[in-house]
Amino acid sequence: MKEKACKECSKVTTMDICTICKAPTSTDWIGYVSIVDPETSEIAKRLNIKIKGKYALRVK
Ligand SMILES: [Zn+2]
Repeated sequence: MKEKACKECSKVTTMDICTICKAPTSTDWIGYVSIVDPETSEIAKRLNIKIKGKYALRVK
């Protein structure tokens, strides 16, 4: 199944609606990062991620 990324929070999911913020997801995204510990991750801070998981670096 093709993975999608949330247009609001960049969370990668296979759903049409984001499981975190309920925003629509897009199939047009680039790269991804796995956030294990949002509290200490610089990338998580930069992308404003507060919940651990897999996130797209850029969503169109
Ligand atoms: Zn979202």
